Amino acid sequence: MNVGRYIWMNGGLVPSEDAKVHVLAHSLHYATGVFEGMRCYYAGDGTAVFRLAEHVDRLFDSAAAYSIRIPYSKEEVGEAILETVRRSGLRESYIRPIAYYGYGKMGLIPDDDLVDLSVSCWEWNLGEDDAAGARGKVSSWLRIDPRMQPVRAKSTSNYANSLLGQMDARRSGCEKAIMLNANGEVAEGSTENIFVVKDGRVITPPPEAGILMGITRDCVIRITEANGGRVAERGITRDDLYSADEIFTSGTATEIRPIISVDHVDIGDGGTGEVTAAMQRSYADVIRGRDERFLSWLKYV
Ligand code: PMP
Repeated sequence: MNVGRYIWMNGGLVPSEDAKVHVLAHSLHYATGVFEGMRCYYAGDGTAVFRLAEHVDRLFDSAAAYSIRIPYSKEEVGEAILETVRRSGLRESYIRPIAYYGYGKMGLIPDDDLVDLSVSCWEWNLGEDDAAGARGKVSSWLRIDPRMQPVRAKSTSNYANSLLGQMDARRSGCEKAIMLNANGEVAEGSTENIFVVKDGRVITPPPEAGILMGITRDCVIRITEANGGRVAERGITRDDLYSADEIFTSGTATEIRPIISVDHVDIGDGGTGEVTAAMQRSYADVIRGRDERFLSWLKYV
């Protein structure tokens, strides 16, 4: 793993090899952390963090859902992210801010002043296999339900559910878990949102399906609209998957990724569909600053 030279911890940069956490950190035991996954790209003539403000906003919203009081302003967190990237020695990276209860008191309810914040980044490149498309498997694990814990929060505890789904998919020889919600409708992938294309219409589950409100999902909706189209937000059933012309997922890590089969049933002709390929190209243009309409989504470091 090629980690950036420095990690920002509680107010300043430390060499990444010194960025350590105590084994009695509260969040290690009780999964009391909220985090972000974001990226920076070399866009034109410099490195730019993609949709910085939206990621920082979501981090604070996630924290609010758990009453985690981040001891910095949004501006300070944004600047910490930019500083970490500037000093990382990496032109492009995946960036991970995390707020969590640290060391100082055990017991379920932590003290407010135990909140630690760190920002790390590391090199992240999509392999050719990722772009080529994934075989999807409807997971036997349901997506956690909003009546159980906040699904819209990007909290560490939610990822045990994602991990179980993804392991289930892997054991079935598939690369991607598709999670249904407690109503049996399609919610999302283990770590990405999902889109179905049928008869030229692009559909994605609505927020009420119990999904993380993905920032890449928002990009897909906004790019489609800017190009004169529309994404319908409505419930998707398991049936809809098998009869789809195309399926793709959206997420910061894997960007726009075709799902070429579901439960070993080919989707469309089992390759990357036209709408998916067009969105892959559009998204690539946007993140690299080649689409003037979306330059405001780039924050140069
Ligand atoms: N759903 C889940 C469960 C995720 O973990 C992610 C990744 N953050 C997404 C959707 C996609 O969100 P984004 O586009 O903001 O990366």
